[in-house]
Amino acid sequence: MALLDVERLRAYYMLRRGSVKAVDGIDMQIYEREIVGIVGESGCGKTTLARVLALDITPPLKLVDGRIVIDDIDVTQIPIPEARKRVSGTKVAIIPQAAMNALVPTLRVRDFIADVLKEKRGIEKKEAIELAKKRFEELNLPIRALDLYPFELSGGMRQRALIALATLLNPSILIADEPTSALDVSTQKTVLATLYEVYSKGFVKSIIFISHDIATVRQIATRIIVMYAGKIVEVGPTDEIIEKPLHPYTKLLMYSILTPEIQIRKRVDEVKHYRLVGEPPSLINPPQGCRFHPRCPFAMDICRKEELTMIEVEPRRYVSCWLYVKK
Ligand code: SF4
Repeated sequence: MALLDVERLRAYYMLRRGSVKAVDGIDMQIYEREIVGIVGESGCGKTTLARVLALDITPPLKLVDGRIVIDDIDVTQIPIPEARKRVSGTKVAIIPQAAMNALVPTLRVRDFIADVLKEKRGIEKKEAIELAKKRFEELNLPIRALDLYPFELSGGMRQRALIALATLLNPSILIADEPTSALDVSTQKTVLATLYEVYSKGFVKSIIFISHDIATVRQIATRIIVMYAGKIVEVGPTDEIIEKPLHPYTKLLMYSILTPEIQIRKRVDEVKHYRLVGEPPSLINPPQGCRFHPRCPFAMDICRKEELTMIEVEPRRYVSCWLYVKK
């Protein structure tokens, strides 16, 4: 059974100029003991999806439709503030983008965590700090970092401290939104190692790792979900997505990764004459049919007219593309 079961999820930003369909009809499951990478360009809806799964749904973002079941609790059947109280920190925890903003600049790390645990779970300061010290020790992080202000920590240390703090109550699912962006390569590795450690030591059951960089995601994820323009376009085990990407967007994304890896490029040679040109579409008025068709070198007439739902082309391999529909 899935730890997280999402059906027909729609979450829009309700703006005066129209609704931005950032998450637009998503079905997905996360199972126990897996690290799932969600990849796609900026603006494809990854961060909005992360916010909705963590129940950080405040105007102008609105949950329009769908169902989210986290560890057997259907959080869409309960008012959001109540649902947040029930699951936040214990069933689901999030490390938001930009570690600096996730901490409070005027509070030492220990005071920040004491405030959060008091507000969210009614845990007293002494107990909160003991929990934090224990988790820092378990992850080999320097305990003195708890006495520092966020600006006194390096970027990597801030991110690792946030991973420790987000997992204090052993949440079932940890969502990490771009945890390694803006870090240099060696610091990225230590942050990925800490993330993997909270997983391997059983402090979390599963991780959702969000990144625009498929090369980073493949270092940690066991399964990959590819998003484009508010929708999921491909899902599969990491090795298979890397060895044999199916959706044209996945192929072009892999071919255009910033740090080109020759082996990856060879696997997607058929797109070598193309580039991922143009921008993702407006999510206020997304294109009819397949949302990737204005940028897809293989677009056919049907792609411009009819939208396709996910099809299972091989066991555990799902894709949303007319090229894979048997005629
Ligand atoms: Fe390209 Fe058509 Fe497939 Fe969309 S459905 S990715 S436009 S071939």
